[in-house]
Amino acid sequence: MSFAPLPAPVQPLSHPFPASVAVDVLRLDLLHPVVSGNKWFKLKHYVEDAKAQGKKNLLTFGGAYSNHLVATAAAAEMHGLASIGIVRGEEPAVWSHTLRDAKRYGMDLRFVSRDDYRRKSDPQNVCSEQEDTCIISEGGAGEKGVQGAADILSAHNTKHYTHIITAVGTGTTLAGLATAAEPHQSIIGIVVLKNAFSLQQEIEAMLPGQKHRSFSLLFHYHFGGYARHTPELLRFMNDCFATSSIATDFVYTGKAFFATVDLLKAGHFPSGSRVLLVHTGGLQGNRSLKKGALIFP
Ligand SMILES: *Cc1c(COP(=O)(O)O)cnc(C)c1O
Repeated sequence: MSFAPLPAPVQPLSHPFPASVAVDVLRLDLLHPVVSGNKWFKLKHYVEDAKAQGKKNLLTFGGAYSNHLVATAAAAEMHGLASIGIVRGEEPAVWSHTLRDAKRYGMDLRFVSRDDYRRKSDPQNVCSEQEDTCIISEGGAGEKGVQGAADILSAHNTKHYTHIITAVGTGTTLAGLATAAEPHQSIIGIVVLKNAFSLQQEIEAMLPGQKHRSFSLLFHYHFGGYARHTPELLRFMNDCFATSSIATDFVYTGKAFFATVDLLKAGHFPSGSRVLLVHTGGLQGNRSLKKGALIFP
């Protein structure tokens, strides 16, 4: 898989609310079975620059369930680079699917204590070899991540959408969308962490220049916090699959889809609105749910 612009399909979301508001889903989840979604875009410039500078390794950070970790491992393998993953916390007795996938892509996984992990802003603390190594911040955040995420909107004609919605973790993806959006488009971020109010400022700081697009963050769709879920959320995800055949994950996109439908229900979008809901991928995260919790694989 290359980093050429990938035309992810756009699919309407069926919903029982006024037909005067159309919702289209941008299916970044269909780009790759494991490296699905926004992580691919956020890595693009890191990988291209690493190759241009003749680096041999990509090094990055994440927890045992990090979509970013496995995406980095896969991207490195596809581009003939080695990869090192600094994993937060002791090595677990049983490895998560995420860690096993990362390993399968050849990633050298190094488990570090939570204290050392916290000091990772100086990578010297967690890793000695750096000459040949391109260091990617956790989650692919940073300027290159924002630049890459801006390309999410460019593969299609997206200018006619009035609203663009995405799930928000670090906010890098949202910052990219805000950079690329048209002035008339409202950017809405569904924050999946509990009480992460500092994101507003953090995202503003990622937007270069003074003329940045404004965006709004919704903080009340976290369902208990990061990677938490409720029966209501899982029921919604099953309903969504039954009516639109779109699978979502419980960490990010399930919450973003739930919020979108909830906003429709509340009449948030004026008549004639055209909403683009970005499916940021991450479906492999569902493997940590109990068997049978979801009606889709
Ligand atoms: C990482 C991730 C996000 C969050 O992206 P940020 O750029 O960190 O806000 C959203 N959706 C999925 C599926 C992800 O894996």
